[in-house]
Amino acid sequence: MEFTAQEKYEFKRLLEDLRSKSGRGTELISLYIPPDKQISDVTAQLRDEHGQASNIKSKLTRTNVQSALESVMARLRLIPRPPPNGVVIFVGAVDVGSNKTDMYSKVLEPPEPIVTYRYHCDSSFLLTPLEDMLADKKTFGLIVLDRREATIGTLKGKQVEAIKHLTSSVPGKQRKGGQSSRRFQQLRLIAIHDFYKRIGDSATEAFLPIDRDDLEGILIGGPSPTKEEFVNGSFLHHELQQKILEALDVTYTDESGLYELVEAAQDRLLDLELTQEKLVMRRFMKELVSDKGLASYGEKEVRQNLTMGAVDTLLLSEDLRKTRATIRCTNASCDYAKDETRSPNSPPPENCPKCGSQLEITGEVDIIADLSRMADESGSEVKIISTDFEEGAQLYRAFGGIAAILRFRTSSV
Ligand code: ZN
Repeated sequence: MEFTAQEKYEFKRLLEDLRSKSGRGTELISLYIPPDKQISDVTAQLRDEHGQASNIKSKLTRTNVQSALESVMARLRLIPRPPPNGVVIFVGAVDVGSNKTDMYSKVLEPPEPIVTYRYHCDSSFLLTPLEDMLADKKTFGLIVLDRREATIGTLKGKQVEAIKHLTSSVPGKQRKGGQSSRRFQQLRLIAIHDFYKRIGDSATEAFLPIDRDDLEGILIGGPSPTKEEFVNGSFLHHELQQKILEALDVTYTDESGLYELVEAAQDRLLDLELTQEKLVMRRFMKELVSDKGLASYGEKEVRQNLTMGAVDTLLLSEDLRKTRATIRCTNASCDYAKDETRSPNSPPPENCPKCGSQLEITGEVDIIADLSRMADESGSEVKIISTDFEEGAQLYRAFGGIAAILRFRTSSV
């Protein structure tokens, strides 16, 4: 499944939040239930765990584990069967500082189906299955070759996998006695060509079944001129031939050559990942310096442009850590209310300017969710920009993390 920019951001933030939680002992429970798992089986196991937990020596840990298990079982009673992607439950007494713990619980349906049932009790939550769902699913085909040996593999996210190893019967450059030099050269060329063809066929067999959209490109490594001969000779299926990104020098042509190839292609790979974000930031910068440019930045200005329906593309920094809060007067007979952008270190609301009573926060949403909602309402595109590259970092530092490319010029740029 493909995430929208905002879903991906929200999922990242959720994982960040879960990662920050820790228990005092091994008392945080993570439960991954696949869609085809019987809830009654899960409950039976938890009841068993509850019984075993009575052996835990530390009274505090024992109580915490048992009440977490009770809480999970109570949750499960509300779920007659797992939803289509299964369900994940996190429960436990998390450390909240100053020697206190708080019972935390979170139930969620993951963006992709859960494959393996997991019950995990530790001092932190088990997040790897969810982190894997967030990982880049893009695949690259890898081929390393010389005239004697070739290895075919893939790169998925950061994972290199070798698929096939081939060796050739191409004779060495030295001919044996009795053969004519010309005849020998001819045979050698035929053998080389045959070997390239075998590599091409094996690579086609390996790469063609990969979903067309998931196969981002093919990297080829080897010494010169072997790799160029292979690329120029069109030995791959024509659809795959078009996906060749680059041919790079590598020394090894066994499995270690695949790693060498990925290493050599690092810059190119990073570029590809960031291209979308880079392109949109470049567009923004261009508008910014042009005379009648369509760039807008700053929260107030961008908000105003969103309200006017003037925003074509909304650019939000992934590192924004702000919320939009609804603040009301606690005095029931006073109607004072306002919206306010807050950061983690904002002071508590002051007193009501109308009646002097205490103000309170009655609602609070992540600012990225708040602005994305406004963008959705006016059909604007939302791009959430990481700070992993120069222009992305600049969006955060120089433009407060909030900017827009406009449809038309307004007075609020
Ligand atoms: Zn008031």
